[in-house]
Amino acid sequence: KRKRGQEELSSLVQRVEDLDLKTSIKSFSELPLSEPTASGLSASHYKTLTDIQSRAISHALKGRDILGAAKTGSGKTLAFLVPILENLYRKQWTEYDGLGALILSPTRELAIQIFEVLRKVGRHHAFSAGLIIGGKSLREEQERLGRMNILVCTPGRMLQHLDQTAMFETHNLQMLVMDEADRIMDMGFQRTVDAIVDHLPKERQTLLFSATQTKKVSDLARLSLQDPEYVAVHEAA
Ligand code: ADP
Ligand code: MG
Repeated sequence: KRKRGQEELSSLVQRVEDLDLKTSIKSFSELPLSEPTASGLSASHYKTLTDIQSRAISHALKGRDILGAAKTGSGKTLAFLVPILENLYRKQWTEYDGLGALILSPTRELAIQIFEVLRKVGRHHAFSAGLIIGGKSLREEQERLGRMNILVCTPGRMLQHLDQTAMFETHNLQMLVMDEADRIMDMGFQRTVDAIVDHLPKERQTLLFSATQTKKVSDLARLSLQDPEYVAVHEAA
């Protein structure tokens, strides 16, 4: 059984490598996805990709940084959650590997929404996931932090932990996502985000999504992304 698992994994790795970035992907079943993600998506009734998902997910599966812009309601959440689940899965991430992915969201409400989608779509994965948005005692959050593989958090609370939680290790982090980066900047979190990024390993994959393309977002992208794939989805005229 173990051997079969390893064979399936190397075939998945190969299919990601062979994925042709020029073919446009219409349904999730055409993507090289693990069984847990594929069944999580279909149980949540996701079949067809939205434009931003179709243009971002393939690149992100191959490890590229992404600067993605698409209006609210276009499906940006799955455009980063699917690559997180897949990239950690292909690395055979376990509880002993610590924090693998960090998702920054401007507000608690949005962080909760992301977390709910993650719980739904990721339900067949074995990863641990946490929501770090304040509202509980720092101490209570501190105890859970060390065991989490994927965290969804607000910038202020995250920085507080990075500065104050001694046991909180980020050296293994593979992926950083900044969702609604335009709002993160508009809310004055620029220096907080810079300080968070300073705590993280330089060798990582970064996905930055926003509803609008602003100067502050492109400044942030210049500082935090490496050779990003630009994915902007405009409304049909
Ligand atoms: P955004 O972050 O761009 O504002 P969301 O990720 O919140 O968009 O998605 C908006 C809505 O579209 C949600 O209700 C979500 O469930 C739905 N949605 C996202 N992707 C798909 C898809 N591939 N197929 C059907 N519905 C989708
Ligand atoms: Mg969103």
